Amino acid sequence: MEFKQIHAKQVLTPVGWLDNVIVTIQNGIITDITPSDKPCPNQIKLLPALIDTHIHGVMGADTMDATHESLNTMSNFLAQHGVGAFLATTVTESHDKIEAALRQVKNSIQQGVTGATLLGSYLEGPFFNAIHKGAHPEALLQAPDRATIEKWLILAEGTLKCIALAPEYPNALAIIKWLRHQNIRVMIGHTNADYQTTKAALLAGASGVVHCYNGMSGLHHRNPGVVGAALSIDHCQTEIIVDGHHVHPAAVAIAHKCCGENLLLITDAMRATGMPNGDYYLGQLRVHMKDNVVRTDDGNLAGSTLTLDCAVNNLANFTNTSFDKAWLHGSYYPAKALGIDNTLGSIAPDKIANLVVLNEQNQLIATLVKGNIVYQSNQFNEQYITHPKQV
Ligand SMILES: [Zn+2]
Repeated sequence: MEFKQIHAKQVLTPVGWLDNVIVTIQNGIITDITPSDKPCPNQIKLLPALIDTHIHGVMGADTMDATHESLNTMSNFLAQHGVGAFLATTVTESHDKIEAALRQVKNSIQQGVTGATLLGSYLEGPFFNAIHKGAHPEALLQAPDRATIEKWLILAEGTLKCIALAPEYPNALAIIKWLRHQNIRVMIGHTNADYQTTKAALLAGASGVVHCYNGMSGLHHRNPGVVGAALSIDHCQTEIIVDGHHVHPAAVAIAHKCCGENLLLITDAMRATGMPNGDYYLGQLRVHMKDNVVRTDDGNLAGSTLTLDCAVNNLANFTNTSFDKAWLHGSYYPAKALGIDNTLGSIAPDKIANLVVLNEQNQLIATLVKGNIVYQSNQFNEQYITHPKQV
């Protein structure tokens, strides 16, 4: 039985900070959180590891490479940025390539990755509207097709967790209901749907919208569009890319006021993340990254180079929110959105010990996944973790 304790000056829970606390971990599970009566020897804070529910790639690696090496590169890079779990996200490509990517995610989950946990796949494309294609190749876009989705769900063997689609296709509502019934999360994206259609899709079982404001009909006061639905319908989960390029800080603040706990920080990061300026591919599309902004030849934004720890800081700055409250939009709320908050997203007994260690300056110095250190900076002291004999 593996038994560890971390004595932290502060521990972030969904209801705020606890001071001077000892967190006990057994076999990768948090078993106890006890206030200490002794002074805390460590100037560290413990927070639940972040969860990136929408990420394509990093460091030259991409989900569409359909290799274990690429998914493992993503897993390790994410851990360096405080992420403890992620959904590997596809882009619109030929069916063969999408199937290879979905199959590889399934295989890599079985094989195991060495950093952040691979939770499953997120199908972004091909069921989109060309009017808001973004970086998805128009020629490969198509109406949602139940037989194709069924085939992909079968080959993914339960690892395909989320499917994005444009709800204005005539058969979309029936497919949303069918997917909801099978417990597959549906997100509305790359869509020109009007407000009524979006609302109908959300009532039919869609969970929310893909990267709010980007790739969708905007808010006009007489035609509120997908954005109007995302900002006004209570249960709508609203992904947002808070890199300062995709969405104006004021529009981030509006979404934050409207969506509350349903505002989910995502990175939508692609393979140029962590890499120098230059040309890269997103699926089959050549894109150019300059100063952390990625665009297609037509000038459309093509994914981001954002990291989730940075998104938390940006959200705090753009919305005048405290750092700890902003952190929940990248940890606890995404766990709730995926329906995995019984095991991930918070520091509480019986939860998996996916933790981030920050120093006094809020710098990330370590990430733990299932109780094991998967990333540490040179500021992390191994003695922060003790191995007392179990009594
Ligand atoms: Zn997208």
